[in-house]
Amino acid sequence: MKVTEDVLAKLRGILADPDRLLTSDADLYSYSFDASFGLHKPEAVCQPVSTEETAGIVRIADEYEIPLCPRGRGTSLSGGPLPVQGGIVIDFSLWNSKLVIEEEDLIAIVSPGVITADINNAANEFGLMYPPDPSSAHVSTIGGNLAENAGGPRGLKYGVTKDYVLGLEIVTADGKVVRTGGKTVKNVTGYDLTKLIVGSEGTLAIITEATLRLIPKPQASLTCMVLFDEIVDAGRAISKVLGSGIMPSKMEIMDQSSIIAVEEYASLGLPVDVEAILLIELDGHPLAIEEEMQRVAEACKEVGARSVQVAKDKKEEAELWQARKLVSPAIVKIKPTKISEDATIPRSQIPEMFRRLKAIKEKYKIHLVVFGHAGDGNLHPNIITDQRDPEEMRRVELAVEDIFKAAIELGGTLSGEHGIGTMKSPFMEMELGKDGLALMKSIKTAWDPKNILNPGKIFPEEGERFELRNG
Ligand SMILES: Cc1cc2nc3c(=O)[nH]c(=O)nc-3n(C[C@H](O)[C@H](O)[C@H](O)COP(=O)(O)OP(=O)(O)OC[C@H]3O[C@@H](n4cnc5c(N)ncnc54)[C@H](O)[C@@H]3O)c2cc1C
Repeated sequence: MKVTEDVLAKLRGILADPDRLLTSDADLYSYSFDASFGLHKPEAVCQPVSTEETAGIVRIADEYEIPLCPRGRGTSLSGGPLPVQGGIVIDFSLWNSKLVIEEEDLIAIVSPGVITADINNAANEFGLMYPPDPSSAHVSTIGGNLAENAGGPRGLKYGVTKDYVLGLEIVTADGKVVRTGGKTVKNVTGYDLTKLIVGSEGTLAIITEATLRLIPKPQASLTCMVLFDEIVDAGRAISKVLGSGIMPSKMEIMDQSSIIAVEEYASLGLPVDVEAILLIELDGHPLAIEEEMQRVAEACKEVGARSVQVAKDKKEEAELWQARKLVSPAIVKIKPTKISEDATIPRSQIPEMFRRLKAIKEKYKIHLVVFGHAGDGNLHPNIITDQRDPEEMRRVELAVEDIFKAAIELGGTLSGEHGIGTMKSPFMEMELGKDGLALMKSIKTAWDPKNILNPGKIFPEEGERFELRNG
């Protein structure tokens, strides 16, 4: 169904402030994209700031069978918040009013529009930490992180968003408000609906509140930058360090193309003649990590590292991490269109994945940049291209297909953290098989029989093939 005047009037009646219903063309256009590729304009945008308003919007959508697309800050790299079938976007970015730290229980209770970094900053004031740290943490919302099960550099040691969710308040597809889980670390009462909703990309329920687990903040950290003449050696260094009994808090990789892009963008003094840089962070007791850092350096040198530079102070440490943070903004200076993948493989296959990515880059003559959370096998092969060039886009499509095939063949997965959205749905059967996909679909049908919650995401349409279409 379309969003009619009748529907708009009802939505206006739900929102306490009618200005939080957006219908002008300019407003709708600004909700038609995310950080991925497509362009899809909604028919209306609602900006709820309470559970009652959210449930009211869902009930109207249920009655009129109108697609609903929840949205945080639109930083998704897989098309997640795009209204591919039209309908209403529910923008949660204004709803950041609740951020409560309950120190004794080591938990945070948050509304869906709270910025992720603000949770960690608030926890830090109590000597606590919220570990999940997507590189977009300063701009993305906890609602978006929960829906995508976001990871980040610290995922290597601390896990991802789902490992820190104790309970949720959700609105179901027919507008009911339900609580899952609770405040306790242990909870085995029935099915774990909390974990099912986390990572469901807004297709099963809408998240209106989350109870998150916090941990004590580590006392200290140390960072080093390791240079490699051969990228394959950087891959071997990861297994070597982990195999030596050390669990770094972060282990990030930048390939030569990312290093050159960052250097041209920000002149940080990075060595542009190396094939790869590993940035490794250790956290814990100051004396322990100093000793561990020596062992990390030895392990890296054993597999051919050119040099290991340990940051002398917090300023130098921040400068090293700045290099990694600048990769995304730097590479879009090369060409206007960025196709960002996050095919993930078992750690042991990292050297082989690098070999295959090199071969794909040469075969299709594309600009392929690789960086990412190498310590957990979560690489980010990014293709930098120009969507106005149809011949190049065709080569890019074939390269993306080959990247996914390589990841699956090596025992990996289509996505480690960015989600499926619209960008990877045609490949779902390749990873899950027909029966696995059907089982997942049966959950969607049971929870959302009218298919109004974020339709067109995760599941491929009948006979759909992969195509990088814009619109
Ligand atoms: C420069 C850059 C770096 C990034 N780095 C990382 C990284 O290190 N790790 C990582 O995992 N991701 C990363 N991302 C991807 C992105 O930031 C994450 O997927 C993030 O979780 C999206 O949050 P958001 O608030 O922008 O949500 P959106 O992009 O607006 O939405 C994402 C998904 O969540 C759903 N959603 C949003 N709010 C709700 C809600 N309240 N209830 C139900 N569903 C909801 C949407 O429908 C959509 O499917 C990066 C992106 C960029 C641009």
